[in-house]
Amino acid sequence: VIIAAKRAGRPNEFQGPETRRADQSCPFCAGQEHRTPPPTAVYHSGMAGGSSGLWQVRVVPNLFPALQEPGPFAPQHHGPYQWSRGVGVHEVLIESPRHVAHMSQQSDEEIDLTFRAYRDRIQAAGQVAGVAHALVFKNAGPAAGASLEHAHSHLTATPMVPALVREEMDGVRRHDRQYGRCVFCDMIQQEQRDLIRVLERTAHFIAFCPFASRFAGETWILPLQHACHFQQTSDECLPELGRLVRRSVQRLENALGRPAYNYVIHTAPFDIECKDHYHWHIEILPRIAKAGGFEWGTGYFINSVPPEEAALALRTVTPS
Ligand SMILES: [Zn+2]
Ligand SMILES: [Zn+2]
Ligand SMILES: [Zn+2]
Repeated sequence: VIIAAKRAGRPNEFQGPETRRADQSCPFCAGQEHRTPPPTAVYHSGMAGGSSGLWQVRVVPNLFPALQEPGPFAPQHHGPYQWSRGVGVHEVLIESPRHVAHMSQQSDEEIDLTFRAYRDRIQAAGQVAGVAHALVFKNAGPAAGASLEHAHSHLTATPMVPALVREEMDGVRRHDRQYGRCVFCDMIQQEQRDLIRVLERTAHFIAFCPFASRFAGETWILPLQHACHFQQTSDECLPELGRLVRRSVQRLENALGRPAYNYVIHTAPFDIECKDHYHWHIEILPRIAKAGGFEWGTGYFINSVPPEEAALALRTVTPS
């Protein structure tokens, strides 16, 4: 648990669950740069090294960080408890200078630079003392935890490997011991045989609704070639990936009427010892049904839409 009392002061544009307060100006729009901390990275138009014109993507430290202290990570003991300062990184990636709320409104260039920023900032987080793992995630819509609607994502870097990632790594190790292969590579093979859960395949990536989907319309995107670290994705493949993610989100928007959703980039810990035991992937998690007592109490999920049905519906709505 991260206890971050300072985050209580952060602005919230959303009054109720769905409506945005109309009377506010947005701190992420071009012209409002003074309202966020100095950037850690800025990406400009026409950028393949160039730096002229208006910024397209801007990365800033979170003004209300959940984690922000430099390492080393040194847990203290207090009776049965362990605690530490909030070692880590918390950045916000602002994905357009224009006030746009939906990925479908972002230009190709904004998407390309956003995914380049994801990669660069994960690499930079790996250089911070005491950091073991970095997560990039997007919260879209108040029901998905967003407090501002302007298109943005977060990067958090933590001194411990998150429990969910550790659980996935354990699964990969178990499957490898039993069958001598990567379970994610095996899933890709199986999905290409079954086809009924596949949304789309590009030259280097595949998007499908996972066999054990926790949420209706849950979509996973994986590189076809085994790779443990997202941040090693090449310049050539990043635009292909970014646009596949945008198309996959558009499918959800078209089929489900712009639902709130999260996506997360699951990549291996920085420690290269872990590299054989992971296959990076992106999980897109529509937030239509709310988790209830069963989910909180068991860690299991009840999903009323089978992934085969979801995939059929998502395939038939053509992303615009
Ligand atoms: Zn804005
Ligand atoms: Zn693999
Ligand atoms: Zn995962």
